[in-house]
Amino acid sequence: SAKKTNRGSVALHNQAIQNAYLNKIALRDKLRHAIKYELLSVYYQPIVDQSSGRIVKFEALVRWFDEEQGMISPGAFIPIAEEFGLIQQIGQFVLERACMDLKKVQSVGYTDISISVNRSVNEFKVSNNQFDLISEAIEKYDIPYSSITVEVTESMATNHYTWQLLRDLRGKGVKIALDDFCTGYSSLSHLIENQVDYLKIDKSFVDSLLQDKSKQIMISCLVEMAKQLGIKVIAEGVESETQLNVLNDLGCDHIQGYYYSPARPIGACIQLLEEFNSEKKADYELSAVKE
Ligand code: C2E
Ligand code: MG
Ligand code: MG
Ligand code: MG
Repeated sequence: SAKKTNRGSVALHNQAIQNAYLNKIALRDKLRHAIKYELLSVYYQPIVDQSSGRIVKFEALVRWFDEEQGMISPGAFIPIAEEFGLIQQIGQFVLERACMDLKKVQSVGYTDISISVNRSVNEFKVSNNQFDLISEAIEKYDIPYSSITVEVTESMATNHYTWQLLRDLRGKGVKIALDDFCTGYSSLSHLIENQVDYLKIDKSFVDSLLQDKSKQIMISCLVEMAKQLGIKVIAEGVESETQLNVLNDLGCDHIQGYYYSPARPIGACIQLLEEFNSEKKADYELSAVKE
């Protein structure tokens, strides 16, 4: 009967929910273990300045190579970390590692390179003391505040407390980037009322750029406005030369994407710096920077 079939499908549905839940719990436990035993690592993706052709910045991206599952993407485990209160530990691990690696980069002569780290919405709770955590890591490795950029998403920018914190950090010299810009509901008033240093145009927007003339118009307006406000525009997820050329014509300041390089370990990034920023190269033992 219809009732019976219905009950059957409800049972199946419940089963699916239960399985999904169990998978999530299993991943959470595995993640706890990975954090505890420092099995996470940090890779860096270069951001290239278009007027000089040099690498100016690297984005720190967390990596998890699991023995059984292989590489588990941040897209899969960051939401779990956020849900189960593990994001703070991951964020601090990534920041500390980034400061340590930036110190290496700067000590071999690339002194004007900076690094950006991502921050999740849950990390900016009143109780979390983000200001102290971020300052401590920066001071521990004795690098300039201005060589760290904190990337927050637009959706986080609606929270008043978050902005107060970002303003405080900015007061110390830390740079702020609005990540994943042009997804969701972009509010230009956020940009004008709250000072940020960078706008990062999301990959999904870059992807549809060539087919969609209206998006090109939007970027060109955004770039114009950003200039007036002293904000630099970074396009992310740039994979082809055609995309690169269009974005350059539209006036984007910096480009990040597989066209240049995916995220790599810090040693490989120093090699990239030799390629891109070569006249900056200082004499050093490469072995000194290898772990
Ligand atoms: P995001 O901050 O927008 O980072 C950019 C993502 O796009 C990275 O993915 C990067 O590898 C990828 N990407 C860059 N260029 C290209 C390209 O040309 N083609 C393609 N297909 N992809 C490109 P990833 O590393 O998987 O990170 C995904 C997201 O996970 C990040 O998006 C960020 O929101 C989050 N995430 C990563 N690391 C951290 C972290 O340490 N803390 C927090 N809170 N979130 C993180
Ligand atoms: Mg980011
Ligand atoms: Mg991004
Ligand atoms: Mg993105």
